[in-house]
Amino acid sequence: MPGPEERQAAGALLAILRERIAREGPLPVDAYVRACLFDPAHGYWSRPETIGKAGDFVTAPEISQVYGELIGLWCAVTWQGMGSPSLLRLVELGPGRGTLMRDALRAARAMPAFLDAARVHLVEVSPALRAVQQRTLASSRQKPASTHASAPHPAAGVDPRLRGDDGPIAWHGSVKEVPEGQAIIIANEFLDALPIRQLVFADGEWRERVVDVDASGRLRLVPGPPTAPPVTGLDAAPAPGTVLEVRAGEDALLAQLALRRQPIAALFLDYGPAGAATGDTLQAVRAHAWADPLAAPGLADLTAHVHFDGLAHKARAAGLAVDGPLTQAEFLGRLGIAERASRLMAANPQQAPGIEAAVQRLLSPTGMGTLFKAMAVRSRSLPPLVPFV
Ligand code: SAH
Repeated sequence: MPGPEERQAAGALLAILRERIAREGPLPVDAYVRACLFDPAHGYWSRPETIGKAGDFVTAPEISQVYGELIGLWCAVTWQGMGSPSLLRLVELGPGRGTLMRDALRAARAMPAFLDAARVHLVEVSPALRAVQQRTLASSRQKPASTHASAPHPAAGVDPRLRGDDGPIAWHGSVKEVPEGQAIIIANEFLDALPIRQLVFADGEWRERVVDVDASGRLRLVPGPPTAPPVTGLDAAPAPGTVLEVRAGEDALLAQLALRRQPIAALFLDYGPAGAATGDTLQAVRAHAWADPLAAPGLADLTAHVHFDGLAHKARAAGLAVDGPLTQAEFLGRLGIAERASRLMAANPQQAPGIEAAVQRLLSPTGMGTLFKAMAVRSRSLPPLVPFV
């Protein structure tokens, strides 16, 4: 149950939204989601606790340190595939608690030349999470925030040689701000957090789905004005009520990556179908439980499926090449998760059951292992990336 402060916070944004709808008319879903996530005073990403046990949801890097470690090794190998440039922008989009980057940098110590080349750039919108990232990456003896938190964790801080341009790590509001240079970009559960529009097929045409206020003051989703879907190849006569989701933030991001003058490799890890799909996937999660996306604006995390098929099409149209997608289980399997987990268990026999359970959760054929996908997008001048080939 929400406490009084929570109720007040949700009530504040609800009042703002009601007033805005009265003034501007019903809000397209993306405008609603943007307000819920990014309102500077009452939006979800202004909240102090979001990711982790004490927050609302848990992500793969928070489940097992092996996840970030394997991605760190992937970065090092990808850097080699780029010709081992002497300067590499190592960029993470939406780094959350900084756990993935911390574990990745620790694993990458096996390749000191890669760490010498890497400059870390974090693209983060949440002031609260920036502070957490700073703590995670600055302290040299942190315990892992994973399920096997008491497993001995090698000194986990940032290698002192790692620098942004102006200090150990550079923070940015957008990938646009990352300076020139070859770049590796990691995005774990970042795209799902970018607002979506929803188009709904109603009365024989596609219409913008909008958030309106009913007679009792509650928010509700209704078909709005007619609009042309910005994608081709759609069923000419879908079933009434069919929902199509469109995420403009992906186009903007891909355009930014395509604009970079030097080669880039980006790894997108997220949840959603590999093939084309329609349907309403907007979801709210709060305190580790499903919530109604309209019920408590600003208090719940709002995300929606990433459509990898559409993302791949858009990347190619932007002039980039695509590798994958693979299911998360296949991707981690090819990167050697079994061997890495075995070694960690052998070194920490007391923690072995916890380590094993966490890894199984990442690989679960009925859960994260198949729902989540990994897909890479790269400059055409680069060869296909491991482990996709
Ligand atoms: N990658 C982390 C966190 C995923 S949650 C993990 O796997 O644990 C989404 C992250 O993206 C959060 O850090 C959130 O603050 C950030 N974020 C969401 N929208 C953003 C945007 N438009 N620009 C920059 N960061 C954003």
